[in-house]
Amino acid sequence: MADGAVTRFAPSPTGLLHLGHAYAALIAHREAAPGRFLLRIEDIDRARCRSEFETAIYEDLRWLGLDWPDPVMRQSERMAAYRDALTRLTPLTYPCKCRRGDIRAALSAPQEGAPLAGPDGLIYPGTCRDRQMADAGPDDVIRLDAARAFDALGIDHLSFRDAAIMPGHDHILSRDQFIAGIGDVILSRRGMGTSYHLAVVVDDAEQDISLVTRGKDLFDSTWIHVLLQKILDLPTPLYQHHRLIRDDAGKRLAKRDDARAIRAFREDGTSPAQIRDLLGL
Ligand code: GLU
Repeated sequence: MADGAVTRFAPSPTGLLHLGHAYAALIAHREAAPGRFLLRIEDIDRARCRSEFETAIYEDLRWLGLDWPDPVMRQSERMAAYRDALTRLTPLTYPCKCRRGDIRAALSAPQEGAPLAGPDGLIYPGTCRDRQMADAGPDDVIRLDAARAFDALGIDHLSFRDAAIMPGHDHILSRDQFIAGIGDVILSRRGMGTSYHLAVVVDDAEQDISLVTRGKDLFDSTWIHVLLQKILDLPTPLYQHHRLIRDDAGKRLAKRDDARAIRAFREDGTSPAQIRDLLGL
């Protein structure tokens, strides 16, 4: 972008950063120039996040040559903002008590065919859809009623602009495709007060992110974010979905792939320039 974008790298401190994270961070940093590259710590899942991993994130990113403005946004400090957003979404939400096993059982009832999964997991069959928010209990998750959301907005499709494709060729998803392939996503997880999708949308807006760079694995999640932005009346940024870094067997790297942790390369004497080379940057 000629005048610079505001981008972000948003890791969760649930393990050491690996080559895939280095790639995502370097792309976000590169695409921001001469704008602003922000760092956001996505630590809403308190059970899985560790402060030592957060410290390691700062160290590894600095070692890679990246810098970002302080203070860093930490999602664990933003619960009030998520609560407000959830309250605004109340007319389009319902409490749901189904556990994964219940959903699987409902989906595999003979007339329903095989369970289908979308970017938010199994596509929810709607068992609790008629429950009222006034009856929500502590063991419930909160779901967005996707059909009601499209109807309330009076739209029959979503679209977003992708920085990687020709201007004017926006990605489009119809209401029916959303309902069939994504469904009633969770906006607040049990005991968490929010979900990844809700927190990301609220925070991208709060940080004025103008370009979201993220892996292709999150492409389908972007539809959820675009829908939430519309309902919450927040701007939809430009998106750019980049390739995923895979291991030698072609599998996407995961946090448990410690051999490819940035730290392991660093301890082996690899330089940041060699990491960029390795990633084709
Ligand atoms: N915490 C998410 C991740 O690490 C952020 C990605 C995104 O929303 O773009 O995958």
